[in-house]
Amino acid sequence: MNKRVFLQGFPVDCIAYNDAVNFASMAIDNGENLHIITINPEMLMYAKKDFEFANILKHAELIIADGVGIKIALRLKGISQERIGGVDFSRSLIKLCADKNLRLALLGAKEEVISTLEKKLKIEFPNLNIVFSHNGYFDADNKILEQIKQVHPQVFLCALGSPKQEFFISRLKEMLQGCVMIGIGGSFDVFAGYVKRAPIIWQKLGLEWLYRVIKQPERFKRIFPTLPIFLFESIIDSVKK
Ligand code: UDP
Repeated sequence: MNKRVFLQGFPVDCIAYNDAVNFASMAIDNGENLHIITINPEMLMYAKKDFEFANILKHAELIIADGVGIKIALRLKGISQERIGGVDFSRSLIKLCADKNLRLALLGAKEEVISTLEKKLKIEFPNLNIVFSHNGYFDADNKILEQIKQVHPQVFLCALGSPKQEFFISRLKEMLQGCVMIGIGGSFDVFAGYVKRAPIIWQKLGLEWLYRVIKQPERFKRIFPTLPIFLFESIIDSVKK
């Protein structure tokens, strides 16, 4: 169901969308921790520079292909993998929480975003059990970690942006048992309606990143020159295999 491959030395799991959701569901049933990373080219390039982040990546139980750049790098190795975006995947996890009455914890985004999100989720999933919710702007990491530990979440959605969210999850992972933890960047802004997603046609063409750059030009410096360098190094990596 899950085939782990390596891109420039870093793991990526080739897995169908539904299998990834089932994998998460099974981990909760079995009382296991599961750190899911939705990897994109910027994160992979950052892992090359930061040993601690690289270590977190290597120890994550499930690394799914977010971002069209990762899809292209896999294709260069002859692997066809559907893109599993953080926004869609975390929505599936929220639905799983509602269906199975799981304890859900939410952390990240601005206060107005997270409070709007909580209200929206309660309307859409009336029996959703949100045991923790906090904005992503805090000083005392230890206090927040302890508060989350106390409520024993089974699903933890962390929207602090990368790499902050992965560092936070790696610390929380040591304190919990039976929890699926995932970093989902700006997904709360999308869920709460503060940021619009690219129209479906852009998503289907793999151009969601371009849409986001057009809408938020400050993102440009994040993907350039990182993305072209990543693609160039992916070509070299695919030739080496
Ligand atoms: N954020 C946060 N705390 C911080 C920094 C960022 O909660 O200290 C939130 C920010 O409000 C936004 C998200 O993290 O909701 C990052 O979104 P971005 O679009 O940068 O992430 P991406 O989707 O590109 O990974």
